[in-house]
Amino acid sequence: MMQPAHQQVDHRQTKQILWAMILGLIVGLVAYYYHWTEFVSVLEPLGTMFIKLLKMLIVPLVLSSIYMSIVNLGSPEKLGSLGVKSIIYYFITTCIAVLIGLILVNIFKPGSGLDIASISNELSTEQVTKFQTSADTGLFKTIMSVLMDAVPANPFQSMAEMQILQIIVFSIFLGIASLVYRDDAKPMIGFMESLEKLSMTLIHWIMKIAPIGIFALMVAVISTAGLHALEALGKYMVVVVLGLTLHFFVLLAIASWRHKSSPWFVVKSVLPAMLTAFSTSSSASTLPVTMACVEDNLGVDRNTAQFVLPLGATINMDGTALYESVAVIFIGQAYGLDLSLGNQIIIFMTASLAAVGAAAIPGAGLVTMSIVLSAVGYPLDGIGLILAVDRLLDMFRTCVNVFGDAVGTVVVESYNSKTSPQQTS
Ligand code: ASP
Repeated sequence: MMQPAHQQVDHRQTKQILWAMILGLIVGLVAYYYHWTEFVSVLEPLGTMFIKLLKMLIVPLVLSSIYMSIVNLGSPEKLGSLGVKSIIYYFITTCIAVLIGLILVNIFKPGSGLDIASISNELSTEQVTKFQTSADTGLFKTIMSVLMDAVPANPFQSMAEMQILQIIVFSIFLGIASLVYRDDAKPMIGFMESLEKLSMTLIHWIMKIAPIGIFALMVAVISTAGLHALEALGKYMVVVVLGLTLHFFVLLAIASWRHKSSPWFVVKSVLPAMLTAFSTSSSASTLPVTMACVEDNLGVDRNTAQFVLPLGATINMDGTALYESVAVIFIGQAYGLDLSLGNQIIIFMTASLAAVGAAAIPGAGLVTMSIVLSAVGYPLDGIGLILAVDRLLDMFRTCVNVFGDAVGTVVVESYNSKTSPQQTS
């Protein structure tokens, strides 16, 4: 049963963050048009510092939260049921996202009749190598390597390198062993419990400076993002953003239904996480904020949030999957390539899976997109067409990725408790 929210939505803080973002957007645009490069370079470190503070909490939080959720669940079976429900949710929502993307891009055809030469960006040698390596690896190997890489050879190295999936696996093992040998595990449970609580305290403190960090990040991104390409790629961007918006509403309807709350309550509750995702373009960096929003504002049971969110941040990326499907068809349309139903089905499947392989960091979706391109035999150079606006679109898709993770906790929790949760506000 979902617990009542022990802390109500902090409207003031959410409003501050929202205003900081809007202000950052405006100042960023002014800085772009008037070339305020110095001003931006003075402001940028504040944004970087905010991201670093968020990142600082990822490892302690993932380690302790997964561990504590297992210890509190009390049995590996319950964990299995949580895992299966999460994966079913991830799978279904990702498929819906890709489907929305494919339908829209086929209706609006943003790539047809484009003057490719005028918008194409030459890829750097480094980018070509990166995309080629990812394409050569192929989907099967990518998914296999996600699975293989999930097992840590050295958990301390995994923590040092912030390999979230590996940390999750290590915490699961440690948690199960602690269930079996509870007496031996007492000091470890105490340590993890305290690490988890202190990490959450720190995230609440860090969120107090979120408006400053988000303002600085917005100015930096908007003043350097490829605004010059807005016109040529306008239709493409509209299709991506429209698709993401539609998917957002699908998720919102699901959340509101399963949480038995008004959609507005759900949005208000998750807004700080979505705004952080928008300005950092990283689901991983946003994870601590998502955790706080889901537990404090939506009142989702701690054990569920602690398990479902870290996993979701790593493998559940609805926004990225939708984006990849639209982008690949867009490239196909621009180059006049084969857009047969067969190819679209391949794109549907590969885009859904390639998003699983994408890391929760800025620009990761662009790299795994090369797998989708090569699956249908499209040229990797096509990425050059959309490169200029990728950073901007990354903000939108990360926002949907994070919202999808948050909604996942509500859905899994509601099926776990069998009775639907009560509205908390
Ligand atoms: N930036 C996205 C995320 O962190 C991944 C992507 O590039 O699509 O969720």
